[in-house]
Amino acid sequence: MNLSERDKLYNWHPYTQHKTIGLLPAIVKGEGALLWDENGKEYIDAIASWWVNPFGHSNKIIADAIYQQLTTLEHVLFGGFTHNKAVALSEKLMTILPKNQKKIFYSDNGSTAVEIALKTALQFFYNKGEKRTKIIAFEDAFHGDTFGAMASSGITFFTEAFKGSLLEVVRIPVPTAGNEARSLKALEDLVATKEYAAFIFEPLVQGAAGMVMYEANVLDKMIAICQKNQVFTIADEVMTGFGKTGKTFATDHLANKPDMMCLSKALTGGTIPMAITTFTQEVFDGFYNDDVNKALFHGHTFTANPTGCAAALASIDLLLTDEMQNNIARIHAKHLAFETKIKAHSKVKTTRVLGVIFALEIKTDTTESYYGNMRNKLYNFFIENGVILRPVGNIVYILPPYIISDDQLEKVYSIVEKAVEMI
Ligand SMILES: *Cc1c(COP(=O)(O)O)cnc(C)c1O
Repeated sequence: MNLSERDKLYNWHPYTQHKTIGLLPAIVKGEGALLWDENGKEYIDAIASWWVNPFGHSNKIIADAIYQQLTTLEHVLFGGFTHNKAVALSEKLMTILPKNQKKIFYSDNGSTAVEIALKTALQFFYNKGEKRTKIIAFEDAFHGDTFGAMASSGITFFTEAFKGSLLEVVRIPVPTAGNEARSLKALEDLVATKEYAAFIFEPLVQGAAGMVMYEANVLDKMIAICQKNQVFTIADEVMTGFGKTGKTFATDHLANKPDMMCLSKALTGGTIPMAITTFTQEVFDGFYNDDVNKALFHGHTFTANPTGCAAALASIDLLLTDEMQNNIARIHAKHLAFETKIKAHSKVKTTRVLGVIFALEIKTDTTESYYGNMRNKLYNFFIENGVILRPVGNIVYILPPYIISDDQLEKVYSIVEKAVEMI
């Protein structure tokens, strides 16, 4: 049996209906933007392995940092202890985060980063004896798959089975072009009730919804509305963080800064699972008390794992190099050129670009479901052609590693063009 066949015996894959899926390619090597399967077939990783890998697979600099750390101090519990890499990483984050962010809480993945933000918002008001128990979120949001994150997510087929077991979250329209007034009005009506602890959102781009984009100025207005009404704002930058939108964080495009931020995915350059929730001093102070019961009783066994911190430190250094910043600008310019070319195509409904993110929607007569027929046909076409892209319904998006070469990117564009022709 080959690896793909052995995999089928025991492995249960994410977001997968195993009855209708064939054998999965078994990847045995990665370098830069490329992956190879056990048969030697080459793939361009045009979505940076679910948006985690900006600096290329098997990156030597991050690997060295990890090796050094593993052979110096691989792990120590963060309850009751600290270590130099957590101190150094928090210090480094303070130099790149919005200035109002003052406290760092470590965890393991994007969903836990969101859970921590939500729990913190709810307990902040509980500690004050104020009843604010509900959360506001966008329609079609994606914030992860654990219970609080899932409750905040609006893509229904992810969460349908759990209705009734979830935190109370009320959804407002996404302020895409033409929907700004509706969205602002819905937010104003909700915050006026004083029942809400927080408003959570993916700033500027809703990733899992299919790279749905909206403008910074409307989000600025929404943050201002929340600030006026003591509703915390939580920017879920798990996808948008670390350069994807052309700036280090999507919130760098804003004048008004959120109270909390969730980071993961590209944090460690796609190496060690790790996440961070960041807070303003005001949030932290809501827990700072002589009463032990007012503390945040949340933690994970691997909180602030030193190896993860070392990987994150190396990743952030890489992100801040001129070379990587130039790569981000280069990809952005190439996306714009491709957009100009493809948007006139008769089968293309719309296109959008922000930073290194490119998305196009294919015209259809039917509503294409998330994992529907069109999506499957497109996905299989891309994989056959050695390009890893995961369309969402009729939406094809590209979010490449920053080190992708011009030639590799041209190949991705040409396969996308062929797919639009083929469909
Ligand atoms: C991926 C994602 C999450 C969940 O992160 P996991 O590490 O998969 O738990 C949360 N929020 C956003 C915006 C994401 O893109």
